[in-house]
Amino acid sequence: PTTLRLILGDQLNLNHSWFKEKNDDVIYLMAEMRQETDYVTHHIQKVLAFFLSMRSFAKQLQKEGHTLKYFEIDHSDNPQQLEKLIRQEVEKEGVKKFEYQLPDEFRLDQQLNQISENLSIEHEAFDTEHFLTQRNELKEFFKGKKTFLMESFYRDMRKKYNILMDGKEPVQGKWNFDHENRSALKDKRLLKKPKTHPKDVKELLKTIEKAGVKTIGKIDKDEFLWPTSRKEALEVLDYFCESLLVHFGDYQDALTTWDPYLFHSRLSFAMNSKMLSPIEVVERVERYWEEHQNTISISQVEGFIRQIIGWREYMRGIYWAKMPEYSELNFFAHERKLPDWFWTGKTKMKCLSESITQSLDLAYAHHIQRLMVTGNFALLAGVHPDEVDQWYLGIYIDAIEWVEITNTRGMSQFADGGIVGTKPYVSSANYIKKQGNYCDHCAYRHKEKLGEKACPFNSLYWHFYERNREKLEKNPRIGMAYRTLDKLKNKKEILDQAEKYLNEIENL
Ligand code: FAD
Repeated sequence: PTTLRLILGDQLNLNHSWFKEKNDDVIYLMAEMRQETDYVTHHIQKVLAFFLSMRSFAKQLQKEGHTLKYFEIDHSDNPQQLEKLIRQEVEKEGVKKFEYQLPDEFRLDQQLNQISENLSIEHEAFDTEHFLTQRNELKEFFKGKKTFLMESFYRDMRKKYNILMDGKEPVQGKWNFDHENRSALKDKRLLKKPKTHPKDVKELLKTIEKAGVKTIGKIDKDEFLWPTSRKEALEVLDYFCESLLVHFGDYQDALTTWDPYLFHSRLSFAMNSKMLSPIEVVERVERYWEEHQNTISISQVEGFIRQIIGWREYMRGIYWAKMPEYSELNFFAHERKLPDWFWTGKTKMKCLSESITQSLDLAYAHHIQRLMVTGNFALLAGVHPDEVDQWYLGIYIDAIEWVEITNTRGMSQFADGGIVGTKPYVSSANYIKKQGNYCDHCAYRHKEKLGEKACPFNSLYWHFYERNREKLEKNPRIGMAYRTLDKLKNKKEILDQAEKYLNEIENL
């Protein structure tokens, strides 16, 4: 072969033009590396998901006749580090050219730039042919603007890709059906079992452990349930259309002890690893809806599509517009460390124990658990965004920095001071109570602000506003909160209660 082509673990796009035809001049290279298992402590299921998906992808390419070299984590010639790996293989294979696909993470982008510059052979980078926008497109779109409004970007995407459009107008006359998508789930019988793909991972678990990879989280009965091939991911997508889409929007923001997944698609890992492309997911869902308009309302479908062609692309654009500075932003100068119970789920607050335990058990929590339970608490408590980032980047099956950091540091912690969101996502117990049944099973009382049983969210909420008065009071979307705060009868007692809770945060 004359060309070495690198494929990273999150570049599992079987439809990439690289693979359109067999080429004896090309050798593909994939490797499970300590460099990637160790840059943060990952959930065990996340490591399994990547290794299993990479292995099945490699097999598929080999089956199609491509030449591919694969280093498993315990292979004796595996250098475990990207530069060493590329140098070793360039030399061994005697190739004249090195090619790679543009990585999604800043860290790897820097590294690959550097490595290629240092090679004495020719090199070239290719698009991953996955996203609907180019890396720097969002930056261009908002050029000269102070705020990057997701909504205007989203509408542009709808038009550009002709998704849910009726000529130049949005179908059914509206761009946004968000206000219809906010219910708590009242009837358990609506719930459906997730479409899972059980696999026995005993051997691979042993290998990972033997290699010394440190992980967090659990795996139940050694059985792994996530889709790890394109075929399986397509089955999860079909199942979503047929069984979950009908209620997706309605219960998108619901919180319940009854079920971890509700009507969410569980497709984030399949998309982030590029086994599925965002446009095919969206088009499949749109088509399914067109054929079932009598049973599925537009609000379910629009809510879903907005997440993918709106939020997902938007977050990626913000990442490339704002990195590397973004990873250091700490608007509120928060300093606290995350309580230890974020790694055990052992807290008396039911919303947090549910959301954290579920994350440790499944490497999954849905959006509102991430944003309005764990994220909300960390922000109210004043946890350092680095700590929060590390936790989110490790624990979730879908956590890759470009989408994790923008959601965590930006949307959830407002550490960017308002690039991704116009105001911090914080709430007292009131919101959590309204969205479901967590408060019904809690040791604390959601209605109380004072006293031993008062829900910590209630006093911490006001403490957050009080201590950040200077930074937030002038924000027109927030002013109202300060008027309420200043009228509170027991303001001093409430703030004292918050101080007390913060002092004993490990015991909450
Ligand atoms: P569904 O609810 O079925 O949504 C469908 C798809 O929409 C998702 O698969 C995802 O690709 C996309 N999507 C939805 N919301 C967002 C969003 N805010 N940003 C980008 N894409 C979105 N998502 C990740 O993929 N990786 C992360 O590391 C990640 N970290 C997050 C951290 C925090 C603090 C928060 C608040 C959100 C985070 N999200 C992240 C977004 C979202 O929570 C997950 O994409 C979603 O829960 C994945 O589950 P699902 O596939 O069942 O999603």
